[in-house]
Amino acid sequence: HDIAELKRLDLAHHLPAQADHKVIAELGGSRIITRADGCYIHDGEGHTILDGMAGLWCVNVGYGREELAKAAYEQMLELPYYNTFFKTATPPTVRLAAKIAEKMGGDLSHVFFNSSGSEANDTVFRLARHYWKLKGEPQRTVFISRWNAYHGSTVAGVSLGGMKHMHVQGDLPIPGVEHVRQPYGFGEGFGEDPDAFAEACVQAIEDKILEVGPEKVAAFIGEPVQGAGGVIIPPEGYWPKVEALCRKYGILLVCDEVICGFGRLGHWFGHQGYGIKPDMIAMAKGLSSGYLPISAVGVADHIVAELKEKGGDFIHGFTYSGHPTCAAVAIANIEIMEREGLIERTRTDTGPYLAKALARLNDHPLVGETRSRGLLGAVEIVREKGTNLRFLDKEGEAGPIVRDICIRNGLMVRGIRDTIVCCPPLIITHAQIDELVDIIGRSLTEAEPILRALKPGTPS
Ligand code: PMP
Repeated sequence: HDIAELKRLDLAHHLPAQADHKVIAELGGSRIITRADGCYIHDGEGHTILDGMAGLWCVNVGYGREELAKAAYEQMLELPYYNTFFKTATPPTVRLAAKIAEKMGGDLSHVFFNSSGSEANDTVFRLARHYWKLKGEPQRTVFISRWNAYHGSTVAGVSLGGMKHMHVQGDLPIPGVEHVRQPYGFGEGFGEDPDAFAEACVQAIEDKILEVGPEKVAAFIGEPVQGAGGVIIPPEGYWPKVEALCRKYGILLVCDEVICGFGRLGHWFGHQGYGIKPDMIAMAKGLSSGYLPISAVGVADHIVAELKEKGGDFIHGFTYSGHPTCAAVAIANIEIMEREGLIERTRTDTGPYLAKALARLNDHPLVGETRSRGLLGAVEIVREKGTNLRFLDKEGEAGPIVRDICIRNGLMVRGIRDTIVCCPPLIITHAQIDELVDIIGRSLTEAEPILRALKPGTPS
């Protein structure tokens, strides 16, 4: 490889076997993001970059929203902080809980606040087990999750997650978490009929339930669409079948809506687009569009009723649970989404527009598949069209190379394994969607000779 060319493309760090370590060191700095407005971020060297990742799946209403800054400022003057430990609450927390309950609908009318998505899933883990104990079924402790899922970085979060490279760090998962196959059509279900593949994935869950013993399973947890896992959009029949399975064996159904919630998939919550009714929902990110850290767990009435009847208080909480300033910002954020119709626009306008725009890439020699739901999209990079054959001897290296070229070309995306992922702010325009897709296309073309020069890959 031509080191000068790699240096120009800032790619030497992808080739540890061949690259000169001095070059790696020289190129190893971080990009400093200094400001942002609308859908664009700016770095310390004067580059303007279209934010195809909404920060990191967060900034749904876009950057530079003065009213969110004002909401924080005014709340800080009124009451910057108070805890939730002395049977106390604050007006923003109460109002936000009501708003979230309204958006969740049905019997999901209770909310437990936390600060991060990881804390929300940790809360789910503990609350579900506590619930079953109160119900007189203390043996129901096992959570079933999917391989390649991401549910956070706490001990429970990593354990619930299905990322093996995270499990090895910290000797996880903890006992009581089981993983099953993910509904990854382009990967494990390649070439299969989607209905048959959905059936097979659901069968794998049922097999796991029977292996563990149905009486021991507390809950099944999954994102409506796996985000960090590479935008794994399940076949249509999958979720209703999973729900039916949970009901058959009396297992709680938990949706991790940390990415999918607050409009990302064109609904307030992603599960609503699949017509299912979870017993608990974890939410974060889009709840405040990332302006301040806040998360929540939505809890179904029947769980709260059990707690109230038999358990008294759930002794659980964090110093910053229900932080009034964060809650005030979250309310203002939801009001923007309501006023500007961002959820509906994603479902009926920009979401379908992104799907069509991404489809233009299907002719590219490196593209195996494009897929999206709402404003969450993915491009699969393959070595040979018509296959899911990857480029390198180790799966997962093409994505970061193309990502880095995209960034150099003015677009922030994520490269997860051999997949390019995008998740722009919900305010994105058609012209900006075209810009996003054009940059991905151009970057793939630039990446092609570099990737073709690498070692042949193996099917995923
Ligand atoms: N669940 C999902 C689906 C996520 O994507 C994330 C964060 N990427 C988390 C949980 C954890 O959230 P946090 O980083 O706020 O702890």
